[in-house]
Formats: sequence, structure tokens, C-alpha cells
Amino acid sequence: MYREDCPLCQAERLTHWYYADSIMWIANDLNKRGFKKRIIAVVKRHIRNPIDIEKMLIESKLRKIANRVIGTYTIDYQLRSVPGHWHIQAQG
Ligand SMILES: [Zn+2]
Repeated sequence: MYREDCPLCQAERLTHWYYADSIMWIANDLNKRGFKKRIIAVVKRHIRNPIDIEKMLIESKLRKIANRVIGTYTIDYQLRSVPGHWHIQAQG
């Protein structure tokens, strides 16, 4: 559940963070992939398959922040940015 060699487990604050609690953290994504704004929400535990309630809480929090910060956005559900952690991005 926690790995010394994983930068996401270390949770270094490399960009602006919007939110963090015992389940997740939400921050500006290092890789914008051409979007004006891209915000990543990451499950804190080193797992690729969190339970549904965790996914729902994370997406709901991300959407609240994205509504305020981005306005019009889409959610990227592909697990391509981060190897060990389930994550989603709001981008627009
Ligand atoms: Zn990790």
C-alpha cells in the first residue's frame, strides 16, 4: 500500500495542490497534454483498483474543483500517467 520508491506515495508537492485528505489528493497535473488546465486526482494508497465508494468520492471532489477552476472540462479515466495509483484527470 505504500512504496518508498513511488513518487506518488511520497506525495511531493510539485505543483499547486487543491485538496488532500486520507483517501486522495488533487493537484495541477505536471503534464497538461495540450490542455489549458489539467487537474489530477490520485488515490493515496498504492493501488490501481480502489473500491467504488473511493472512486465516487474522488470523482465528486475533482468535479467540484474543476467546476470552479476550469469551467468546461472532460474527465480522462485512462490510467496512463501514473503506474501504481488509480487516478483521473479533469481537463479543458
Ligand atoms: Zn505509490
